[in-house]
Amino acid sequence: MSIKRDIVVGTTVAEMHQIVAAARLHGSTVGCIPTMGYLHDGHASLIRAASAKHGLVVVSIFVNPTQFGPQEDFERYPRNLERDIHVVTNAGGSVVFAPTVEEMYPTGAQSTIHIPHISEILEGAVRPTHFDGVATVVSRLFEAMQPDEAFFGQKDLQQTLIIKHMVASSSIPEVGKVTVTVLPTQREPNGLARSSRNVYLSVKDHDDALVIYRALSVASHLARSGEYSKKALEQTMLNTLATVPAVTVEYAVAVEAETLQTKEFFQSGDEIAFLIAVTLGRTRLIDNMVVAVD
Ligand code: AMP
Repeated sequence: MSIKRDIVVGTTVAEMHQIVAAARLHGSTVGCIPTMGYLHDGHASLIRAASAKHGLVVVSIFVNPTQFGPQEDFERYPRNLERDIHVVTNAGGSVVFAPTVEEMYPTGAQSTIHIPHISEILEGAVRPTHFDGVATVVSRLFEAMQPDEAFFGQKDLQQTLIIKHMVASSSIPEVGKVTVTVLPTQREPNGLARSSRNVYLSVKDHDDALVIYRALSVASHLARSGEYSKKALEQTMLNTLATVPAVTVEYAVAVEAETLQTKEFFQSGDEIAFLIAVTLGRTRLIDNMVVAVD
């Protein structure tokens, strides 16, 4: 364990248990923010929200190999612990948990968590092992950090639903009691969702990527003005995305927000989630918007 400025940086589960136990003895509640590091203002917004509610705020920084497919960017995923510690400090966090792969996956710990159905569609269809990796590592991180509340971004909407299912079905007491809080997506002033992967984008890619926000905005506007046909809403996203030839669309869908299930026509009381995944050169970007139908 090391103390940098006012931040404690721990690397083992045992250290986390000690830190959390000491904080609880002093009456603190515990908030946590699981991340893969290379922190930006999206992460900082979660840390700030956690700091406003909890005496101890633990930010985990772990680039989790099991949620990357064999052809994905695990090796080149951006990493910078010093910079991340700075972001955590400025946002009011108290502890960074930066475990090694061996610490998170000790020899013999080979069980994985699979949440059926919702893990298999959309992101799960394109990245078949991704959500098993996510559900498993988040469960293990919760065991290590033992939070009362964990904060996630709506940016990864499908992930938040899977984590809620994982918590609700967990037989591990420290995991089953965690409150999962989802907070809004932080965007650049031009609308692009903040993402650690934005560093991969060239200036041109960055301009091209703005079409994602435009497509989501056009579909949301259309839904608010009374268009409830899934087909029409999806077509408007596809038409907008097609204006930028460099963008390859993986999916652009309008689905029911709680379940991500398809529905031909939405109706009053529904929440529609618009979800887009594209590739731009070697970079994959996802984003979404949720609209409540009056
Ligand atoms: P990551 O480091 O990308 O795994 O993200 C860690 C957490 O930060 C997840 O809960 C993400 O949904 C959240 N997050 C990532 N980008 C944003 C953003 N632009 N706005 C809000 N939360 C975000």
